Amino acid sequence: MAKKKKQFAVIGLGRFGGSVCKELYQRGHEVLAIDKDEDKVSEYVSYATHAMQVDTTDENAMKQIGIGNFEHVVVAIGDNIQASILTTLVLKEMNVPTVWVKAQNNYHHKVLEKIGADLVVHPESDMGRRIAHNMASEKVIDFIDLSDEYSIVELRATDKVNQKTLVDLNVRAKYGVTILAMKRGEEMNISPMPDDLIHQGDMLVVMGHKLDINRFEDEGL
Ligand code: ADP
Repeated sequence: MAKKKKQFAVIGLGRFGGSVCKELYQRGHEVLAIDKDEDKVSEYVSYATHAMQVDTTDENAMKQIGIGNFEHVVVAIGDNIQASILTTLVLKEMNVPTVWVKAQNNYHHKVLEKIGADLVVHPESDMGRRIAHNMASEKVIDFIDLSDEYSIVELRATDKVNQKTLVDLNVRAKYGVTILAMKRGEEMNISPMPDDLIHQGDMLVVMGHKLDINRFEDEGL
């Protein structure tokens, strides 16, 4: 059976909201693109299922377009923090199950959490951190923060570990981290065995405390 299409709405078609909208639409989802600026709406007609001009702080207008029936709404109103907060409030009062909001700063973040935003994102600072991580270490390919303390990091195997097995590395005992998977070229090994050989250039997917992963990256790789 075909996977059920999810219904999305994206509010605010600036650089961030615009790219979220285009990506969802290109992936085959139904997307309602909303902005209060008419030019933005015209620009997005061909990048969304529907594009509408609405001031999303206007509760009645939001009711009229049936925004409460959407499963997932992204609020990407940039500079106007007041409009972003009001829009989020309207959406949560209408019981939209999942509301993700772009925050401008930490105060904005706190308020959004208090009024029920399901996820608050900081695309600029997140991207900055990601780039800094990659610049600071050639071994780090990508990472996901699981919490303030724990991450999953993709690390590039250096010649130091070339032709070694997971037993040789003994990372769990030495560093307290776990190698979840290994990738060589396009081939993904999602349950690496203790005697699987690592080649230089392989990607290792490592989970653990950030400090332990750093230690493994510095000393073990
Ligand atoms: P970015 O930093 O991601 O480029 P912008 O601040 O440039 O974000 O864009 C935010 C978008 O949100 C703009 O296109 C703006 O017209 C839209 N917007 C702002 N306030 C409202 C509102 N009350 N209702 C709907 N759209 C809004």
